[in-house]
Amino acid sequence: MLLNNAYRYVTSGKNYIVWVDTAHAKNFNSLSRLKGERFKSNSSVILVLTAEPVTDFSFTIHNTITEKKLKNVVGILPGKSKKEEYVIFSGHYDHLGIGKPNADGDSIYNGANDDAAGTTAVIMLSKYFSKLKNNERTIVFAAFTAEESGGFGSQYFSKQFDPVKVMAMFNIEMIGTESKWGRNSAYITGYEKTDMGKMLEKNLQGTGFTFHPDPYPEQQLFYRSDNATLARLGVPAHTISTSKMDSEPFYHTLDDEVETLDIKNMAEIIKAIALSSKSIISGEDTPSRVDASQLR
Ligand SMILES: [Zn+2]
Repeated sequence: MLLNNAYRYVTSGKNYIVWVDTAHAKNFNSLSRLKGERFKSNSSVILVLTAEPVTDFSFTIHNTITEKKLKNVVGILPGKSKKEEYVIFSGHYDHLGIGKPNADGDSIYNGANDDAAGTTAVIMLSKYFSKLKNNERTIVFAAFTAEESGGFGSQYFSKQFDPVKVMAMFNIEMIGTESKWGRNSAYITGYEKTDMGKMLEKNLQGTGFTFHPDPYPEQQLFYRSDNATLARLGVPAHTISTSKMDSEPFYHTLDDEVETLDIKNMAEIIKAIALSSKSIISGEDTPSRVDASQLR
């Protein structure tokens, strides 16, 4: 509720100072999540946690801008006959960095599931397709930086391509745990925005793998990863994930460690992604474009 209300202010196009009663103290920090989302926002919103009714206030805000050089890691496998048509596989290799040590003295946000798992998929897919060597369309394998801090890696990346030439984007996030349907299944965010999901499902028929529409629409996952940046340019760009967003105890915690991943299932999901992309890589299928004017 608090998050939804704050979201309304952040996307209002106006500037607000909002007093948040301390009854919401427990969830207040989760509002910082709004910074990292990929929606259009031209609002400045200051949220203040306070128990007192406020009648008089003044703010002093200091901003220090320091430059940080970050890099995406990208590999390209030129297509045989449709070189100018790109299909992207991507994941983000950054996570949350170093935090306060927990009781065991651990302070490293490993991000094994979020999103070393997706980055692993990108590397495995690049190995697979470079061995196969029969891609008619050009395949771009991208490991993005700075997803968690606002999607800066994918924003830079999206400017290196003419979006019209990007036929599809498979962004891969958090595939290290079993999905809500069990093993060998995953979901596609923003399913209804293009017909790409249907193509992937068709390619998976008879393989034992199933892809489904995102079962957590209220979480707005479509807007919460790097696919959204390209979708805004009209690219059929979706995220594939297995993450149970209502019950992933290690999500954005220090305990997102490699031991918590189901590597075997993850390998199967990577296979499923490869198989699901077949007709798009070959140029047989071309997903419909995202209508960017319909995005929030
Ligand atoms: Zn992520």
